Parts: sequence; structure tokens; C-alpha cells
Amino acid sequence: MKNEHKETKKNGGNLDIAIDRWKSLYETQLLVLAVLPKAVGGFIIKGNRIHKVICLLISLLFVMMMISCGNAGADDATASGTIGRMLAKAIAEVPSPELMLPAPAPEPEPEPEPKTELSTLPLAGLTIGIDAGHQQYGNSEQEPVAPGASETKARVTGGTSGVATGKGEYQLNLEVALKLDAILRERGATTIMVRTQNEVDISNVERATMMNNAGVNLCIRIHANGGDAAQHGAMMLVPSGSVPAEIQSASKTAGEIIFNHFLQETGAVSLGVIPRSDLSGFNWSTVPVCLIEMGFMTNYDEDLLMSTEDYQYRIAKGLADGIESWHNNY
Ligand SMILES: [Zn+2]
Repeated sequence: MKNEHKETKKNGGNLDIAIDRWKSLYETQLLVLAVLPKAVGGFIIKGNRIHKVICLLISLLFVMMMISCGNAGADDATASGTIGRMLAKAIAEVPSPELMLPAPAPEPEPEPEPKTELSTLPLAGLTIGIDAGHQQYGNSEQEPVAPGASETKARVTGGTSGVATGKGEYQLNLEVALKLDAILRERGATTIMVRTQNEVDISNVERATMMNNAGVNLCIRIHANGGDAAQHGAMMLVPSGSVPAEIQSASKTAGEIIFNHFLQETGAVSLGVIPRSDLSGFNWSTVPVCLIEMGFMTNYDEDLLMSTEDYQYRIAKGLADGIESWHNNY
């Protein structure tokens, strides 16, 4: 708007002269048209000779004025030029229709994206480790089952496999882990994924160390079970044995709460919360940790069920609800 105004002022000089000239010529012509018929009429109708002469002179005068205006291009020195100039000035002082228009409404500010303050999300400030159990190819090299222990176990195995789906446990675990990761981050948590692909080589001790170093508030390990064809149901494993008491206690509390929410969401049969002292992934942990055995891949129906998108989502949501409940209460 400022620029437009400047432009109008800048061009004002030239415009003013043009209007001025046109107005003065036009005004003169109007005057001639108004007076000339009277003068001519008087000349024709009135019989008086003097009257006729005066009328003729007036007519001539106006004709001359008109010619003068036309020739001189509204010479500023003529009377009609002056009147025209005044008229033009008056007209020019009236703001142009463009300027009289209401100032255009400012462009509405684009609606800001609705931002959810991270600090108001339910899991804000929480860091959760997610360990999708196993990997595509096991590694049978040995590692100590606990710090300082002489007993060793394979670094990592490929896990069980689905009797109905033929799917490797490592793949099922990853599918659920990725869903849990998405939900937790949506709720404001920071997540640390042990793996996001199958072709890795990360031992159980290394996984525990990764979580310790990241300083997670809790690590959840995702697994599926293997056993007899008839066996089905879920269980939650928690550390015991050589693991520091406060880690055992915190892990048990978290495991119980999370398992309850898992059962509510999935309707799975509960095989309980089971303490385990033989898992290197637990024994090396210095942070609260628990391990969900979602169901048996060696059970035909449970294997099929665990591979459905809907059931996997329910598993992930149940775990996330449990983590949120634990976070709110402990
Ligand atoms: Zn497993």
C-alpha cells in the first residue's frame, strides 16, 4: 500500500497537467454552448440594432475563446484556463476511487500447525529401550551369562519359528517392536531400539549394555515362545538371582503392571509373571527390564493370531498402556 501511494504522488504532476488542460477546454465549450444560443437567439429575435450588435460581439468573443483554448491547449494565461485549472485542481484533490477503497484486509496469517507440546504428552521425559528378541542368524559364540560368571551361553539365537506361518521369531518380534516404538513415541517417550532390522549381530550382553549406556528408564524385551503344540498363552519374565535387588524390584513392579495391561488388551491366557536368573540379557542389566513372551509360535492358532496386524497392534497398545500406567504410578 505504501508503494502504491508513492507511485500516485510521483505521477501526480503529469496527471495534473493533463487533467487541467482537458478541464479548461471542456469548461469553455460548456460556457459557449450555454451562452451562444441565447446570444444568437437574441440576434435573430430581437429587432433592436444595438442589441443585435452586442449579441453578435458576445458570440464572436466566445467563438474566439474556444479557438484560443483549442490552439493554445488550455493556455494557463487565459481566463478559461484558470477556471479549468481550478476545477481540475478541485477534482484532483478528490481522492481517486482507488484511494477511496477501503484498505485491503491484510493477508490472514496461515493457521499455525496444531502443535502438541512434547512436555504435555503422557510419556514425556521417559526413555524406553525396546529389544526385538533374536536376529535372523544366531551366533553360537559364547559369552558369560552374568558379570564375573564362569557359565557361558550363546551370544544370541534365531529363536523359535511359527508352525502355521513359517515365520522366524526374530521377524515377529521386530514387527511388534516397531509398532510399540511408534506408539511410545506418539505418546512422547524417547525410544532406544536395539535393532530395526533382522540382519544384525548383537549379543544379549551387548543388548543389555546398550540399554545401560543409554540410561533408559525401562527396557522391554519382545519375544515369542516355543513348546508343545497344545501350549498357548503369554507370560512376563523378570530378572532374579544376581541382579541388584532394586533392579529386581523395579523390574517386577513394571513387569506386573505392563503384563496386566497386555492381558486386558489382547485377552491372552496368562501364564504369569516369572522370575528368571538364567538369562544373560537380564543379568547384565543395570536398568529395570522385563521380557514379554507374547504367545507360542508352536501353537497353530496362536501363531496365526500373532501374525495379524490387528493382534500385533493390540499387543503393542497393551504394552504401551502398561508402560504409561507404570510411569504414572512409579
Ligand atoms: Zn525368544
